Amino acid sequence: MGICPTDIMPLLRDNFTGDLRHWARPEVLTCTSWGAPIIWDDTFDPDVAQQEARRQNLTIGLTVFAVGRYLEKYLKQFLETAEQHFMVGQRVVYYIFTERPEAVPHVAMGVGRQLRVERVVRERRWQDVSMARMRTLHEALGGRLGRETDYVFCLDVDQHFVGHFGPEALSDLVAQLHAWHYRWPRWLLPYERNARSAAALFSGEGDFYYHAAVFGGSVAALRQLTAHCVLGLQQDQERGIEALWHDESHLNKFFWLHKPTKLLSPEFCWAQEIGWRTEIHHPRLLWAPKEYALVRD
Ligand code: UDP
Ligand code: MN
Repeated sequence: MGICPTDIMPLLRDNFTGDLRHWARPEVLTCTSWGAPIIWDDTFDPDVAQQEARRQNLTIGLTVFAVGRYLEKYLKQFLETAEQHFMVGQRVVYYIFTERPEAVPHVAMGVGRQLRVERVVRERRWQDVSMARMRTLHEALGGRLGRETDYVFCLDVDQHFVGHFGPEALSDLVAQLHAWHYRWPRWLLPYERNARSAAALFSGEGDFYYHAAVFGGSVAALRQLTAHCVLGLQQDQERGIEALWHDESHLNKFFWLHKPTKLLSPEFCWAQEIGWRTEIHHPRLLWAPKEYALVRD
């Protein structure tokens, strides 16, 4: 009978003075009921992930939308901190979607990293800007973005990196546990409940509440995800309804129907307003404080 290393580590730790790392977090859920890892700080070796990604010679895309006042307010810090922390040592292509390409700030790129700017039309309502991302991403993934990358992360711009965000986060379909909701019972989660909405989840449905500020995966999986959300958003619009949390509601429906292959712990996208939590060791992205009066019309 084999012994799982994590079973004997606690016994060894007291007597061991060498570089023995304990790749386990016994106090948090690290695996879903369908076998997908939930990665927390100290459940992976970033050097191993790095080595494996280099061996595969990957190109990783990072998409972000900066429309209206979000551009001046957030984009520069987002890009500067991504240069310090996002997939450092890998080949990276940023895709910035904006209605004002000329206003994109200049940020010096590291070796093997480049930035592309794509023009989008500015929707009037902020909800529409947010929802329109799914269609734009779907088209981009079917074009150059999809051709030149292996994996893509799609991020909100109103956040910045404060810690390592590397290839340990890569997988076919990656979802982010929502920092405000990961401790809540399922029946309280803010899923869309209106049965007329394509995003509806009923009592007993839904695994976790996922945050639309961070999702990722292979190009093929993201094509499927964005296609699903575009259809759902379109169906709701034809019925004159809008899901509670817009594109995020449709994303949650998709992840219920198509289980993510990896989940990121709330450490990967943390909100400081939540305050101190013992299980949050090492935040990687921090939300900007919500200054809606400044950025939303
Ligand atoms: N966004 C934008 N301009 C807008 C509204 C939204 O660029 O007027 C983009 C931006 O990337 C933003 C994302 O859409 O981070 C989602 O919107 P927001 O962050 O306001 O939604 P929340 O995180 O509050 O749900
Ligand atoms: Mn946001």
